Amino acid sequence: MHAPTTLDTETHALAVYEKDGHLAPYTFNRRDLRPKDVAVRILYAGVCHTDIHNIKNENGWPLSYPMVPGHEIAGEVIAVGPEVASLAVGDPVLIGVQVDSCRKCEQCRQHLEIYCAEGMTGTYASRDRVDGTPTQGGFSTLYVADEHFVFKAPDGLDVSRAAPLMCAGATVFSPLRLWDIGPGKTVGVVGIGGLGHLAVKYARAMGAHVVAFTTSASKIDEIKALGAHEVVLSKDPAQVQAQAGKIDLMLDTVSAPHPLDALMWTVKFDGVYSALGAAGRIDVDPIPVLLGRRKVTSSGSGGSLEIRDMLDFSAKYGIYPEVEFIAPDYVNTALERLERNDVRYRFVIDLTKGL
Ligand code: NAP
Repeated sequence: MHAPTTLDTETHALAVYEKDGHLAPYTFNRRDLRPKDVAVRILYAGVCHTDIHNIKNENGWPLSYPMVPGHEIAGEVIAVGPEVASLAVGDPVLIGVQVDSCRKCEQCRQHLEIYCAEGMTGTYASRDRVDGTPTQGGFSTLYVADEHFVFKAPDGLDVSRAAPLMCAGATVFSPLRLWDIGPGKTVGVVGIGGLGHLAVKYARAMGAHVVAFTTSASKIDEIKALGAHEVVLSKDPAQVQAQAGKIDLMLDTVSAPHPLDALMWTVKFDGVYSALGAAGRIDVDPIPVLLGRRKVTSSGSGGSLEIRDMLDFSAKYGIYPEVEFIAPDYVNTALERLERNDVRYRFVIDLTKGL
């Protein structure tokens, strides 16, 4: 039996009202449930550096205001539409960066919906495919989305700690799987923040040799405790040069434009440099790329099958982000701290008492 589809859709949120604005209270109504929709009471929401890029509109996307950020969501199902088959009221669930896609194109048929040929529908700063209204994110008390993009937490996964897996975790897990990382491979991780610290944990759990590149000398001991075999201070040219030709897969998760050339030489012949950051242009000298036949690439936060794989893997190996839980009224301070690289390693807004 399904619960009734009538739902109090009033949603309390934190929104910016203009480019570069501060987050302030905002109340709106989520849509009424469509047949395959699920309503999720949000309990935790991770704060991603992409939220800063969006609040500052650094990528120049057409945004509408008020805009509610947040695409790392953990919560519980409180209502389901009449055709929902995979979820029930009370299920612990997670939502990531995407809430819809065309479901017809080649990428969607391969469950790589993040690369939808028509363009994926983002959890916020996007437009609903049916009615064209702006999507609003997880810094809020309620979300309504199609069940296809609402992921039931696997047995053993503690959802209270899991929200950042849905963007930070998925984004680094996807290339580790794509490039067959396992024993005998060496993975480099540049920038040990929200994405980077999870990349270290996943790569280590997959059996790879892990080399972390950081600008923060104060993080060295912590990064070793996260699982890195070696930690390189990326501002020291001699330490970077000592890694020349050693890395099979580099995951660059830096949140600001930075020089790639010295790092590129650390990648092996035919190796991969995955530039995952979304902060400005990637500036690469072609010489190390052509002389090593290296591949420079990037990727999004994973399709639905990859996300299920990531959640199962996280539950099996007990992989969670290192989290600083914050009250909703601390979020503007948290964004300022995140921008100046003062977080170990992800802020998560505790919404269990509402907003
Ligand atoms: P974050 O928590 O702020 O971590 C970024 C890390 O980069 C910092 O901890 C710092 O690590 C390093 N860093 C910061 N400024 C730097 C600079 N000027 N030069 C060199 N290193 C610097 O950010 P995040 O949430 O992990 O996100 C990282 C990037 O990935 C952002 O641009 C975000 O938008 C993007 N992203 C992309 C996807 C995708 O789909 N591809 C998904 C999510 C996020 P150290 O202290 O160790 O040096």
